[in-house]
Amino acid sequence: MRKTYLNNSNDSKNVENDISHPIIQRPSDIKKYLDQYVIGQDRAKIAVAVAVYNHYKRILAKDELDDDVMLDKSNILIIGPTGTGKTLIAETLAKFLSVPFAIADATSLTEAGYVGDDVENILVRLLQIANYDIYRAQRGIVYIDEIDKVGRKSSSPSITRDVSGEGVQQALLKILEGTIAQIPPKGGRKHPEQSLIPIDTKNILFICGGSFDGLAEIIGQRVNSAEIGFTKSLNKLNNEDEVLKEVCPEDLIKYGFIPELVGRLPVVSAINHLDEAALMRVLIEPKNSLLKQYKKLFKMEGIELEFRPEALKEVIRLAMERKSGARGLRSVLENAMLDIMFRLPEYSEERVSRITLTKEFIVRGKKPFIRHRRRSA
Ligand code: ADP
Repeated sequence: MRKTYLNNSNDSKNVENDISHPIIQRPSDIKKYLDQYVIGQDRAKIAVAVAVYNHYKRILAKDELDDDVMLDKSNILIIGPTGTGKTLIAETLAKFLSVPFAIADATSLTEAGYVGDDVENILVRLLQIANYDIYRAQRGIVYIDEIDKVGRKSSSPSITRDVSGEGVQQALLKILEGTIAQIPPKGGRKHPEQSLIPIDTKNILFICGGSFDGLAEIIGQRVNSAEIGFTKSLNKLNNEDEVLKEVCPEDLIKYGFIPELVGRLPVVSAINHLDEAALMRVLIEPKNSLLKQYKKLFKMEGIELEFRPEALKEVIRLAMERKSGARGLRSVLENAMLDIMFRLPEYSEERVSRITLTKEFIVRGKKPFIRHRRRSA
């Protein structure tokens, strides 16, 4: 009897996938899980959920069906500004699927033989994270950050050999489409006497992300401006978000990607800038939001931490100024909270029961409101 691993039950909370018999999670379940951690970015979450569903279906189809219909691999490209959830989506996905997850930075990659990381080192990281379990590594997820930086810039023809552009793209292409890569177990450069580990990449899901500065202009030149409201105010962030949604393979090629690599990233999704309202939600809502984390740290010392709404608004305003998306929230808060965190054990000893943070505290470091527990007789 042919087993089916398609998961049709509603009550499945399965996070503990047995990797040899993966239960394929429905796209709606994947999305629901992502929703707990990633605010907004619905289109990207849906695109990723569908791609992952198809990815694992494709792996199972190999094992289970013997017809000739080959299902293509659906590696994913997420385009959008920094600090808006690209890595978070990939990371959360891997957590949900209980598969090994590695992050690589495309800017450090160079063609084999040059100073820098071989593209294959991406797989070394995955293997290490999988505790050298090759089977698990071969079904993992790799997030390649700053993929836009390996675009070969057509505007600057270089006489010297291109060590970071097209050569890297060619090497990436191989692992993205599926190859048996021979990797040195500890990374670094291969040398002849070393024993290498073969890693088959055909079932590894690659998610690539990048901010793609300048891509909106390329898309804008192609698309009839009136059609998508492409106006002089392109610099307005939401306008740019709208333009990026229109991206198509030829834009990426124009941006500097070789057509073969674009072909290996069939799922392309644009994500949005996070506005004030979205940042506020990021601060409060996710399961492990920054506020929840701070509150927990205080609670562990017996102290309730309270933020006045104006204080939160100020955090958002300062984070917006940093133009690094939600990443700014953490740096603003860490900065503001440092002195209190430093004194937290003393506050606890002094029987403080609640600390209330005001706008003045965030802006000028003014002392927060501190309430003490009454001494019992
Ligand atoms: P990037 O888009 O540059 O990959 P990340 O996903 O690494 O950005 O986001 C940086 C941090 O900001 C994350 O650790 C996460 O806490 C927070 N963050 C960014 N976007 C979101 C989002 N949409 N929802 C919740 N948190 C987010």
